[in-house]
Order: sequence, then C-alpha cells, then structure tokens
Amino acid sequence: MEIRYHSTRDKEHFLTASQAILQGLAEDGGLFVPERIPEPLSIPALMDKDYRGVALEVMKLFLCDYTDEELKACIDAAYDSKFDTEEIAPLAEIGGTYYLELFHGATIAFKDMALSILPHLMTTAARKQGLKEEIVILTATSGDTGKAAMAGFADVPGTRIMVFYPKDGVSPVQEKQMLTQKGKNVRVVGIRGNFDDAQSGVKRMFNDADLKKELKDKGFIFSSANSINIGRLVPQVVYYVYSYVQLLRYGRISLGEPVNFCVPTGNFGNILAAFYASRIGVPVNKLICASNSNRVLYDFFHAGTYDKLHELDLKSGAFSQERKFMLTGSPSMDILISSNLERLIYYISGEDTEKTAALMKSLSENGSYDIDDEMKERLEGFESGFAGEARCARAIRETFEKHSYVIDPHTAVGAAVYEDYFAQSGDETNTVIASTASPYKFARTVMNAIDPSSDACEDMELIDKLCSLSGVELPNAIEELKGAPILHDTVCEIAEMPDEVRGFLR
Ligand SMILES: *Cc1c(COP(=O)(O)O)cnc(C)c1O
Repeated sequence: MEIRYHSTRDKEHFLTASQAILQGLAEDGGLFVPERIPEPLSIPALMDKDYRGVALEVMKLFLCDYTDEELKACIDAAYDSKFDTEEIAPLAEIGGTYYLELFHGATIAFKDMALSILPHLMTTAARKQGLKEEIVILTATSGDTGKAAMAGFADVPGTRIMVFYPKDGVSPVQEKQMLTQKGKNVRVVGIRGNFDDAQSGVKRMFNDADLKKELKDKGFIFSSANSINIGRLVPQVVYYVYSYVQLLRYGRISLGEPVNFCVPTGNFGNILAAFYASRIGVPVNKLICASNSNRVLYDFFHAGTYDKLHELDLKSGAFSQERKFMLTGSPSMDILISSNLERLIYYISGEDTEKTAALMKSLSENGSYDIDDEMKERLEGFESGFAGEARCARAIRETFEKHSYVIDPHTAVGAAVYEDYFAQSGDETNTVIASTASPYKFARTVMNAIDPSSDACEDMELIDKLCSLSGVELPNAIEELKGAPILHDTVCEIAEMPDEVRGFLR
C-alpha cells in the first residue's frame, strides 16, 4: 500500500514521496516523515543482490509513487563508474571491527551516496508532477554536501544549484573542490559566519513567502539538497542494509544476529538512516552516535536536554557552561543544530506531531528543550559519546600503527567513540563504523596525527606523503584538483544571502 508523507509537526496534510522530494521542507518548518514505517524487508531475499539491487528493494519501500522502472533508472544513473569500486560501499575488516567505506564516489565523502541519486529522483519527480518551473537547489554546507551536490546537479537540465559555505570553516581541499566546480548552472558563495549561520540563512529563504513569490513569477521554485530531504535520507538507508547483507555473505554473522552501527554525526542524517534500517528489518543492537567537541548530541542523549546555548557540565550534570561553537579537524560535524534530530524526536514522542512542534518551538525561542521520561526510555537503542581533537588524533595514529589503515578525522571520531564504548561496556556485538570520508580530503589533520613533523609541508606535498604512507592510490577527485582553475570567488554577509540568490537567477 502506498506510503504518503507528512510534516513532523502536522498530520493533516499529506504528500506523495515525489512531492515531498521536490518540496524538501514542509511548509510549517517541519521535516517530512512517512505516515508509517514500511513492512520489513526479507533479508535472505537480498543475499544475491549487488548494491543497485539492494537499493531498489529498499527505495521502493519508501518512494511508493515512483515505478520500479523509474527507480531503477535513477539507481543505474547514480551508482555507476563515478564510484571507483564495483561494490559502491565496501566493508573493510580492521582489527575485528568493520569500516563501511562510504567515500568511493565522485567527491570522496559519504554525501555522494545520496547526492549522486538525488538529482535523478528530483528531475523524475518534476516530470511526474508536471512541474513547469526550473528547480533551484539552495544548500548550506559544512564542506562536503556542497561539493557533492554540485557534482550531482552540474548541468542537469531544469535545475540550478547555489551553495553557501562558511568562508573560514572548511578544509583547504574542501574549499578548492567547491571553488573549481564547473557547470553552467552552479554558483558557490562563502559567507562570513559559521555553518549554522549558513543553514539558518537558507532556511529563512525557504520560509520567505515574498522571496518565493518573486522567484516563482520569474519561473523558479526552490528545493533543498540538504539532508533534511527524504530524497537523501532514503538512499542512505540502503548502505546499512547492504552492509548487513555483506556481513552475512562473508559468514561474519548469522541471519538475525544483531550488529552495532557507530556513526560520526553532525546533522543526524546518516545515523537516522541507520535507525530507519533497523525499523525495516536490519537487526540492530545499538546505534552509537559519535560527536566531536561540538557535543550537543552527546549532551542530549545523556541528559535528555537539547541545549544549543549551554553545555552539560560532566561533573555536576547541569547545563551551566556557555556552549561555544568549535572549529575542529572534522568540520563536517561542526554543527550545533542537528536538523534531522527532529525526526527522531517525532518517533520517540510516539509520533506525536503536536509534542514535536512544541519542542521545536522551544528550541527556536529559548535555544533548548527537555524531553520527558517516556521519551527518554524510547532512546534505549542509542548510545553516544564524543571525542576531542587529541583523542581523534590518537585514533588515527593507532589505527595506522596497528593495522596500516588510514582513517579520516570524521571516521576517527567514530573509531574513538566506539573504542571507548567497547572498553566501558564490553559489548562484543559485531560493529560497523561508518567511514564517512577519504583521508585524502583531510590530509593535513591526518598527517599531523601520524607524523607531526610534516606540518610545515604544503597541502599537495602532504597528500603525496599520505599516498606513500598509506599505499592507497590517489583518488581521481584529488588528482583533478591539481592545476584546476578557481571559478568562483564571491563572499557575502549573512544578511546578503537573498540578494546573492536574486543575482544568480537574474
Ligand atoms: C556530513 C558528514 C558527516 C555528518 O553526517 P550527518 O548526516 O550530518 O550526521 C560526517 N562525516 C563527513 C565526512 C561528512 O561529510
């Protein structure tokens, strides 16, 4: 039976999956959720399928108004030779733990997993809905989304894409990747502010009825490629299912045996996909939410309070310290407002849209909200931890020294948090750590952790050093950057973002 979508804040209005993908965010500011969780998958039926085959089975559960042929065409266009491995998302077994490598796509970070398919899902949706306007993707990025979204949408007919990033808040490789992006329909703008400022600015434009009307008259409609879009969330469920099937196939687990997923988390999109995977039949023991020093999620899971302004004092248990936004070596997780958490709030509230709306109102008005005991109990399947900069550096160094395997700083947050969790809990459950970026994307942080004497080197020199150290071939995405011309140089104030959009669409 068809599954429709409604806002986390309202159960009166329903959209089809393709409508929800086009719209991105609900009118009331809430996030789209399926009206019910689909019937569970049959895991044994997936055993002989490749990544694309598993993707079709998972996606058709959620995206019900797409035909199988449409989904298949989207999947085939997305998961092809843009990925440097036939497996698309391979599992590496390292010292008894499994790293699910989600960085084999065009921009060598996990955002490619969803953003290589979103443009196809969106243009298919536009065709299905008979849309006349050109789709304008507005996106805020903490570094990886922007590039992956531009790579996905570049020169896709009927679309334009505009990306805002924090000018001083991304790695040099991330910035160069964005500023060298080709395509007639792309524009990148740095803002003087942090990622949360960029994200709030984009959200404000989405909710600005006058701006929307003005652009609609010129033949444009906005949509979002941020991880709040169900067109990104659903493709991310696929690799959790696929990794379970691979563990079965390699004989590492038996059918029905639960696993842990440990996910380095920022906007709560990736781990939420793991949550959906568990709800559609992947046996899960714990979902481990790993934060960097911006530990607003850790504080939430521990205390039941989400407070973007104050930090939990680990000794007294009070939110007594001012919370400061930190720039870390894992910039894609430098976030204090984890948008997708709203979907988890909706589920633990017992799918209560009024309660969810009230908590979100409290967040926007007071900067915080508390959940009640019943909601806390429903968080049972989650564990959480955080890892500061020195702890992450140690995880990178030790993983390299013990296993000759190089992990990026985001994955290192996951590795460190899992190691600490294991030491504390003794939980022997097989664990999959989401490996979210190639170490080449963050070569300086990685090389500093392994060999601090290399800090004086230029970025490209560091990359070459990393290459000889790791023995992992230089990815195409890095090779291309050498000598690529800078094509974008706009920087603006937060308040100027709408004018930048007008300028782009003139
Ligand atoms: C975006 C990103 C994350 C965080 O994922 P969320 O879905 O925002 O929680 C982690 N690591 C890398 C490399 C990323 O690009």
